[in-house]
Order: sequence, then C-alpha cells, then structure tokens
Amino acid sequence: MKHYIATPTRTKAILNKYKFTFKKSLGQNFLVDVNILQNIVHHAGVSSSSGVIEIGPGIGALTEQLAIHAEKVVAFEIDQRLLPVLQDTLHPYKNVEIIHEDILKADVKSAIEKHFHPGQEIRVVANLPYYITTPILMKLLEEKLPVKSITVMIQKEVAARMAAKPETKDYGSLSVAVQYYTESEVAMTVPRTVFMPPPNVDSAILHLQMRPSPPVHVKDEKLFFQLVRASFMQRRKTLMNNLKSYFKDVYDKQLLEDILKRAEIDGTRRGETLNLEEFASLANVLYEMTK
Ligand code: SAM
Repeated sequence: MKHYIATPTRTKAILNKYKFTFKKSLGQNFLVDVNILQNIVHHAGVSSSSGVIEIGPGIGALTEQLAIHAEKVVAFEIDQRLLPVLQDTLHPYKNVEIIHEDILKADVKSAIEKHFHPGQEIRVVANLPYYITTPILMKLLEEKLPVKSITVMIQKEVAARMAAKPETKDYGSLSVAVQYYTESEVAMTVPRTVFMPPPNVDSAILHLQMRPSPPVHVKDEKLFFQLVRASFMQRRKTLMNNLKSYFKDVYDKQLLEDILKRAEIDGTRRGETLNLEEFASLANVLYEMTK
C-alpha cells in the first residue's frame, strides 16, 4: 500500500516535523483513515475529468485522495502555518492549487472561472471545520455557484437536520433551505476515532446534489426564507402564533389570518408539519397580498 498522508504514522511524522499544534478555534481535526477518505471521494462522484474545490485541506489528507482521482483540486486554507506543510506533503501532485483565504470571504465564483475549464464538472468536497459548517454551506448554496454537488464531512446531528423530512424532530429552517437548493442524503456516519485529535462529536458524510432549479416556484426568495425562519421560531407554538410574533411590527393579525386562509393552510398547525410546497404557497400569497 502507498504511504498515504492519512495514515496515523505518517500524520504524526508530519506534525512532528513541523512542530504543528492543533488550533481548536479553527476546527482542526485531521482524518487519519484512508478508507474513510476514499469513501468520501467515492460518494462525491469525483472522476478523472472533475474539478474539485476543497475547503480546509489541513495537512493534505483528503487533498491527496482528491488529486489522485480528479483532474484538478483547488483548496482554500485559512491557517498560514499549513502552507509550507502542504507544499511539502502535496509536492508529488501537480494538479493541486492551494489558496490561502478564509472561505467565508473568498470569491469562489471567480476562483472557479480562473482555475477550471468553462463547462467543467465542478464538485465541492471537504472535511469541514465544524464551528462554521452552516455558514459555509449556506454561502455555497446562496451564491448559486456552478457546482454539480457538495459532499462534506460534518457533525452527525447537523447532517441529520439538513436532510430531515417534515414531521420529524430534526426538520427545521435549515432542512428547508438545504432542500430548496439540493437533493440531500446522509451517505454514512463516521466515528470520532478516525480523527486526530478526536472531536467531541460523531460525524457523517452528507452528499448534496445541486438541483438544476428549485423544486417549487417562489416569487421572492428573501421573503420565503424569512417566512420559513419565522415558522420555526418556537417549535411548540402554532404557525399562526409564530408568524404573529415574528411579523408583529410589519403585518397585523387579520392580514396574517387572511394570508393563511388564501393559502389554505390551517394556522393551528406547527411549522414542522409544512412541506416545501406549502411554505412556497404561503410565501407567494404573502408576497401578492403585501407588495
Ligand atoms: N481536510 C483535512 C483533513 O480531512 O484531515 C483537515 C480538515 S479540518 C476538520 C478543517 C480545516 O479547515 C483545517 O485545516 C482548518 O485550518 C481549516 N479552516 C478552518 N476555518 C477555515 C476557513 N474559514 N476557511 C478556510 N479553511 C478553514
């Protein structure tokens, strides 16, 4: 077997060589299991013609597996201390480009245009820093990047929320947002023991296949997402009560009742029982009646 970066012995040797100390504040938990990494690459659907965007390459464990299977890998890393390490560990792979930037501030669209061919199949693959999983995913989705899929290792509970269906305890505004843009699937769960150092939580590989267009027609996306957030404000409250308190300074009670009636949605239901179509129809009626 090849002497991959992600074996515990090689990882320890790299960390010692550079006297690298983990920064918990940057979510630095490195993968030390080649099988898991190959599973991520497999679930991501990476092929020899793919262009891959990675977030947080660390010492290059996943980057190496991606470089072997993809045409090109562009990886964003915030921690300057890792740049010389990556230059060393990824030296054999000429198809990797490291960008020293905070992914939350990066212009990913321009990076795609700069580093990949026009029309190339682009996939995002990452073992994400857990402290900013949701902002990273929401940024990638809201920017409507030309990517085919997003496959990420994240905290197991967050993955469950993103893929949750209506009427389940995990279903919330995050599920609606993720499912508006993608078809989501939890590909497999991963124990904390395959990381160095092990995090305090178990993990899962979440695969998001981008939809060519949203599954429902929404007239005003900002209003739609606002309404969704409002409906889940307090899970035990009814839809009507949540809408009343969220929109108290904007719409009066009678108007909200009329909107629910016109959308044919019972205001005594809880937000968690509404599916994507119902949220869309409620948001569209709200838009029509208040524009
Ligand atoms: N990919 C490596 C692996 O699987 O072993 C490391 C994954 S580790 C969970 C997360 C990585 O993201 C770290 O290298 C960390 O420095 C980096 N990171 C943290 N915040 C970031 C940000 N805002 N932008 C880019 N990279 C970030």
